[in-house]
Parts: sequence; C-alpha cells; structure tokens
Amino acid sequence: METVAPYKEIIDVIKESGGEAFKLCFQCGLCDAVCPWNRVINFSMRKLVREATFGLTDIESEEMWRCTTCGKCPQQCPRDVKQIESGVALRRIATEYGVFPTAVKPIRTISGSLVGEGNPLSEERAKRANWAEGLSVKTFTEGMEVLYFPGCYLSYDPRLKKVAVATANILNLAGVDFGILGAKENCCGESIRKTGDEDVFKLLARENIKTFIDNGVKKILVSSPHCYHTFKNEYPEFMVKFEVIHISQYLFELINEGRLELTKEYGKKVTWHDPCYLGRHNGIYDEPREVLKKISGLELNEMPESREDSLCCGGGGGRIWMETPKGERFSDLRLEQAVGIGAEVLVTSCPYCITNFEDSKLTLDVGEGIEIKDITEIIQESI
Ligand code: SF4
Ligand code: SF4
Repeated sequence: METVAPYKEIIDVIKESGGEAFKLCFQCGLCDAVCPWNRVINFSMRKLVREATFGLTDIESEEMWRCTTCGKCPQQCPRDVKQIESGVALRRIATEYGVFPTAVKPIRTISGSLVGEGNPLSEERAKRANWAEGLSVKTFTEGMEVLYFPGCYLSYDPRLKKVAVATANILNLAGVDFGILGAKENCCGESIRKTGDEDVFKLLARENIKTFIDNGVKKILVSSPHCYHTFKNEYPEFMVKFEVIHISQYLFELINEGRLELTKEYGKKVTWHDPCYLGRHNGIYDEPREVLKKISGLELNEMPESREDSLCCGGGGGRIWMETPKGERFSDLRLEQAVGIGAEVLVTSCPYCITNFEDSKLTLDVGEGIEIKDITEIIQESI
C-alpha cells in the first residue's frame, strides 16, 4: 500500500533543511543524466523532486534511500535545487514515522549501536583503541600538536585497522606530537545524519564537541573524508570551530616541511580515486596526487572519470550500511576503470571506498590483478 506523507509536513521539513529549492526544479533531467545509479538501474532524482514538490512522496519506497549524496547532480543542476539536503529531509520524515523498506532496515540496529557504543559496527566502546596496542600511541592531552581521530572503521574493521596502524607509524616516524581519544571518541555522525536520523547525529556531535573542548583539542587529523566533512562543515552549526586536516593534506605538509623523507622505490602503476567527500564536497584534489608524485618509481595515471567527475564508490549517504545487489554496485564499475587503465594499485583515502573496492575485488574476480590501498599504506612502504 502506498503511503503518501502529508503535503504540509513534507514541505515544512524540506523548508527547515534549506530544501525549499525543490520548487525551482524545471524538470530538465540533467541530474538523472549524471547520476551514477543510471549506469546500473533506472533511477530518477528528477522524479523524486517532482513528487516531493506536490507532496506525493511514497515514504515506503526504496527510491528515496538510493542517493549516495555523491554531489554530482548538485554540481550540474542549473536551478540550484539542493537535491542532497532535500533528499535527506525526506528521509527524516520516514525516520520520524519509523518507516524503513527492507534494504534500509539495518539502519535501526546501527542507530542503536551508535547510541549505545558510539560506533555503527556493534563493537564495544572499551575496545576502540585496541588497534593502537604496542604502537607507542599516547592518549591525547592538551598542548599536543594534533589529535588523531581515526574514526569507527579504522578503529574496528580488520582491513581498515591496517590504515590506522600505518598512520600512527608515519606520525611517529615524522616526530609528530599526537594523541588519540580512544574510548572517549564517538562516531562523527556524518553518515547517520544523511540517513535522516538527526537526533542521533546531534547526540554524537554534542558528545564529541564536549570531549574536544574538555580535552583542549584545537587541531584534528582525520583519516575519513566523512569525519572531515562533518567536523569542518557541520559541527560549526553548534557554534564551535576546530582546525581539521585530512591525512592526505597532512602527508603533503609533512613531506614539504622535510619531516617525512621518502627513501624507498615504489615501482608500481597507481591510480588515485577521489572520494566524493574529499573531492567534490571539499575540493581536495591536488594534495594526494602531489604526495603520490613524490614517491620514486611510482607511475600515477588518471582514470577516465577523475577529480570533479570522479565516480562514486556507492558508500555515502548511509548506503555503506545497506545491501546493494551485485550488478548495481558503482564500485564494480570504478574497479573496472582502474583495471582498464592498467593500474596495479587503486589508491584512495576513505574507509567506505576501501571497503567497497575490496568487496568488488572479491566479487569481480580480478584476483591478484589489482591491489586496493590507502595512501598511508603506500607512504609506509616508501619510507
Ligand atoms: S538538474 Fe535540477 S532543475 Fe534539472 S531536473 Fe534535476 S533537480 Fe530539476
Ligand atoms: S547526489 Fe549523486 S547519487 Fe544522489 S541523486 Fe545526485 S547524482 Fe545521484
């Protein structure tokens, strides 16, 4: 049965989140032309916009949960229809009604884990710093140069813990005075916000902000572009401002300041994947490429879609927590692009991208043909 959310409520929520722009849409369809979903299935942001304008949104449909918030259609839209903000506003209505289609149901468990343990992975809060055992990583104290905030996936996920370890090793070698918050660190809340759960986002953000202030944090180093985005662009909504730097930018600085010396050859063909929240959402394209170019022996080649045109891995907007059937995964297409240009290593710097590419590598059966690496793992091998 189709549930039509009341017209007034949809419009109110959309207005509240800056999405009044829906009615500016003149149905040109450019959004659909650039949306990566249309490489794999039929999906129409234009239709969602049209339906919302007339209060006809079917909140039980999976369609409004598809957008990965990749940022491609807002970049193209001639009428500045804020598709991401407005799409999230629709999800907020569904969340308030408690209506989740089957593919979206895991989000309920994830919200519970975020509230209870501060991470989406149903892991224990007390084990958050276990990745750092034996690595001479200190607890952050006021006056240290930088707080390292690895985020949830690098703290718990077996594949991504290797990235946190590589980062800590690099920072130690460069003589950076850094610390971590361990069990006091919470999920940044970026992705749960994009699923429409504003209450859980606010809870996580407020707790993190209090912890940062109580511990005298001024500068935060992050591994995830999602943490970067929310700390830099969304936490200021709470009247706070911290200096935020992504690891790819920090590596660039450390190398240029002569604190990090790259001494070993890395004789492989590499391609850089721009994560949506590093590139399109925050304009960081050059630093990771400059870092890679400084490695002796490394050959850097671009994929057909790069920088502003980068192809989304499919993990943003909370999609990392939803099941995407084989044949509908953008990460498969991206991996094929990397293999297509002869890359031996697909390098990026985002936990969602790495998770999706590693999955694609298994299901596409490209075997040993290509490695998936975080930029820190390549630097670790080059020092
Ligand atoms: S690109 Fe903008 S104006 Fe064109 S259909 Fe999409 S939302 Fe509407
Ligand atoms: S933001 Fe990206 S995934 Fe979402 S509708 Fe636009 S192009 Fe598609």
